[in-house]
Amino acid sequence: MEINHGLLIVLSGPSGAGKGTLCQELLRQMPDLKYSVSMTTRSPRPGEVDGVHYYFRSRQEFEAMLAKHELLESAQFCDHYYGTPRFAVEQAIQGGQDVILEIEIQGAMQIKKCFPQGVFTFIVPPSLDILSERIHKRGTETEEVIQKRLATAIQELEYVSEYDYVVINDEVPLAVEKLKSILIAEKCRVKRKPFVFKGGV
Ligand code: 5GP
Repeated sequence: MEINHGLLIVLSGPSGAGKGTLCQELLRQMPDLKYSVSMTTRSPRPGEVDGVHYYFRSRQEFEAMLAKHELLESAQFCDHYYGTPRFAVEQAIQGGQDVILEIEIQGAMQIKKCFPQGVFTFIVPPSLDILSERIHKRGTETEEVIQKRLATAIQELEYVSEYDYVVINDEVPLAVEKLKSILIAEKCRVKRKPFVFKGGV
């Protein structure tokens, strides 16, 4: 990465681990951080707004974006497509802005291949029981979909070793503090800093 480019923060982990809540809280506390709005073929949940939470698109529209290489990564998750529009992310990073992606693991691994300088952070629930409780409480999916998501989550937990950081989401404020510390530390990395001594003996 060239100096002065923004950071690409990839937040991923099983569905129901609380990535969304942590991401929203992080964005509230770090208003300069840019959220990458994903594209999906799933239907909006109550309260979700096109262009804010996701770009809700048909399969045909999604596949057309894929064919034109307009997505940085994409994945199929529980029978739907999800993907990250390329242009907004590239533009922000090149302009020095930090960008956060909240995506599942297949997509995160694609980003790791094409952009290894990213900061890859895995969010885990405190336990599988709590994960199940959280997905049920959300009340937005059928039992069949919930079971599919739980089975996927168990497989996904094995990917933790592919990430730079892991944050257990037991208490939201604590987990957010940990994420902020990660970002601050990453921004202080010598390799990311334009740090040059002028003069000398
Ligand atoms: P949900 O349907 O619950 O909003 O999201 C399902 C899963 O898809 C979550 O794990 C979420 O992080 C992930 N996801 C959301 N947007 C993207 C994306 O652009 N790419 C990928 N690979 N996963 C995404």
